[in-house]
Amino acid sequence: MSTIAILSALLDEQRGLLEQLSNPQKIKRAGRTFWCGEWCGHDVVLALTKIGKVAAATTTTCLMEAFGVKCVLFTGVAGGIGSGVKVGDVVVANAFIQHDMDSSPLFARYQIPLYDCATLACDVALTALLLEAASAGLTGVGDHFHHENLLGKPDIHTGLIASGDRFVSSAQDAAGVLTGLQSAGFEPLAVEMEGAAVAQVCRDYGVPFAAVRTISDRADDAAHVDFSAFVQQVASPYALAMVSEFIKMLPKT
Ligand code: SAH
Repeated sequence: MSTIAILSALLDEQRGLLEQLSNPQKIKRAGRTFWCGEWCGHDVVLALTKIGKVAAATTTTCLMEAFGVKCVLFTGVAGGIGSGVKVGDVVVANAFIQHDMDSSPLFARYQIPLYDCATLACDVALTALLLEAASAGLTGVGDHFHHENLLGKPDIHTGLIASGDRFVSSAQDAAGVLTGLQSAGFEPLAVEMEGAAVAQVCRDYGVPFAAVRTISDRADDAAHVDFSAFVQQVASPYALAMVSEFIKMLPKT
């Protein structure tokens, strides 16, 4: 139980991380590729969740059953829906919720049936480390990328991320997701499609989990525009910078 798992949703998000592995070994399982190797003296396994909650749960379950991981880190992109969460910012999750979970009236809206909760908290210590790593990592790369991509300086937020099985790509949908959650007392900063599933599997197995998402869009009618370019040019170098710091800071146990 000493391997660190690093998950991404998309291949572009993973590519830079893969280049850091020494002695990479490829293991195939459940239609997925798991890359095992060493990074800064840690045993690491890199994998893609693929897209959506079920795919993410499958990948995470494989990690638990076959790779004996001691913690899971997720890095990817998300749509910003909280006020002041702009494209190019970074959100470090402190908890996840499924915005499309609704078993009402049997259970309260958003509650995960038989779990007695709607939100799943990330590991406090790992999240604190990730916040520190995000801040240290982005200090180095921020100016260059923000100048080239005409973005403002990245703000680092921490809070709730909402996952669901759709790409939120209209202002109307984004507003619906936000107001629905707010009326139930939740204040999401971003939407994506995998995090809550990874968090749930990690909780089931009792494995600490932390996640960081770079904001690629505002989940509005322009959400799909330049999505791939953003992932390649901004989100991937950010992920590399933040994860590199995280791995350096993580105690070797
Ligand atoms: N263009 C990609 C598909 C991207 S799906 C391809 O062809 O492979 C969107 C991915 O980014 C998911 O992994 C999701 O977690 C995240 N994401 C970014 N913005 C999002 C938004 N507005 N709504 C939902 N997910 C979003």
